[in-house]
Amino acid sequence: MIIVMNGKTDDADVEKVIHKLYEMGHKVHISRGERRIILGVIGDVENLASVPFYAFNGVEEIIRIVKPYKLASREFKDFDTIIKVKDVIIGGKEVIVMAGPCVIENEKQIFETARYVKASGAKILRGGAFKPRTSPYSFQGLGEEGLKLLAQAGEETGLAVVTEVMSVNQIELVGKYTDIFQVGARNMQNFVLLKELGKTKKPILLKRGLSATIEELLLSAEYILSQGNYEVILCERGIRTFENYTRNTLDLSAVPVLKRLSHLPIIVDPSHATGRWRLVSPMAKAAIAVGADGLLIEVHPDPRSSLSDGAQTLRLDTFTQLMKELSPIAQAVGRELGTSAENDLERMKN
Ligand code: PEP
Ligand code: MN
Repeated sequence: MIIVMNGKTDDADVEKVIHKLYEMGHKVHISRGERRIILGVIGDVENLASVPFYAFNGVEEIIRIVKPYKLASREFKDFDTIIKVKDVIIGGKEVIVMAGPCVIENEKQIFETARYVKASGAKILRGGAFKPRTSPYSFQGLGEEGLKLLAQAGEETGLAVVTEVMSVNQIELVGKYTDIFQVGARNMQNFVLLKELGKTKKPILLKRGLSATIEELLLSAEYILSQGNYEVILCERGIRTFENYTRNTLDLSAVPVLKRLSHLPIIVDPSHATGRWRLVSPMAKAAIAVGADGLLIEVHPDPRSSLSDGAQTLRLDTFTQLMKELSPIAQAVGRELGTSAENDLERMKN
C-alpha cells in the first residue's frame, strides 16, 4: 500500500503518518518528490483498513499496489531514480558507458584499458576478479589481487569501478575495492546474496538472469530495495532462446518495458547478449535509441589473448570508434554521451 501526501506537507505532519504506521507495526519506505511524498508500506496491511488516513493533514491518496514488486514500481516513485557514483550520474541525461575487460588479468592489461576507455569517454571501469565461469576448469579470476589492480586503475584514471560479487562471504572484501557491486546473471535469484547487498550502502548493478522474466528481474531488485538500499541499476544482458547464432538474444524491448514499470535506471550489455564483437556496436546503438541509461561493454587491448570472452570483446580502437558513433544517436534521443572524450583522446595521442 502507498500513502500519497502533498509535496508541500510540513515535516511534522508527515511524521504523524509515519508514526501511526510504526505504531501499527509497519516498516515505511519514503520517496520524496517535489509534487508528492510517497510512503510505501510493504507486507500485510490488513490492520490498516480501519485507520482514517485521509483525516491526516497532507494525505491525498491511498493506493494498493497490485503488482508483486512494490518499491521498484513506478507507483511507488513517479520520477526516475538517479544514482551518483563518485562524480558520475546514472539515470540522468547522460548515457553512461561502463567498459573494461571481462576479467582482470594483470597490471598492464587493466591500466592500459582503463586509460584508453577513459580517454574515449567511458565513465566507469569494469573488470571481473571473481568470475562465474561455466566450466570449473576455466580461469576463475585473480581474486583480491584483481580487485586491488582494478581499484588502482580506477584511482589513477578517476574512473569509478564495478566488479562482480558472487557470494555473501565476498561482500566485505569486494566492498573494500569497488564503487558498485555487480550481481551476475547466474546470481540474479540468489536471494540471500540480494538481501545482504540490500544492507550495504553501495549501488548494485543487477543483471537479468539467463532465463528470467522482466517481472522476476524486478522482484530481485525488490529484494535489495526492501532492505533499504534503493540504488539498483538494472541490466539487460540477453536471455536464452532457441536461437543459437548469438550467445543470447538481446531483449531490447525490456528497456522501454522496464522504463514504464519501474523508476530504476536500466543499462544494456551488448557483449554478453550477443557473444560476438561485430554485433556489439549495432546493438549498443540500438540500446541507446530505445532509451537505455547506459551500456556495459567488454574491451581488451588484445581480445585474441583474453582469458575470458575474447570473441565478444572489442579492441581499444574499435571501442573508441564506437563511442564516436554513439554520440549522435544519444543526441537524437535527447541524451548526451562522452562529452569531453574527443579532447582527452587528442591529448593522449600527443
Ligand atoms: C560479466 O558481466 O562479467 C558477466 C559474467 O556477465 P553475466 O553475468 O551477464 O553473464
Ligand atoms: Mn564476460
